[in-house]
Amino acid sequence: VEERVRALLAEIQQSLFRRALEFRQANTHRVASYEEFQRAIEEPGGFLEAGWCGDAACEAKIKEDTKATIRVLPLDRPNPQGLSCLRCGKAAAELAVFARAY
Ligand SMILES: [Zn+2]
Repeated sequence: VEERVRALLAEIQQSLFRRALEFRQANTHRVASYEEFQRAIEEPGGFLEAGWCGDAACEAKIKEDTKATIRVLPLDRPNPQGLSCLRCGKAAAELAVFARAY
């Protein structure tokens, strides 16, 4: 019985993880400009991916303008080469995922 329960738990965990991942992928959109970001953030329930220079001042200004905060700095992404910071336009140090709190 213990073996079976353990296997079942592993299965459940995997399926929960898969669903969370699918949800995130389906609800995450890459935006190219601050204008697009400000428009897209008005849509409820989404995550927006954009470059961020790593400067806390930019993060604070984005929050002030849009009420959105950084949720995740995905570790599974390659360096965001060619991306620039959503706010200041400098080279991005991170690909950040932003969302609004409700
Ligand atoms: Zn910046």
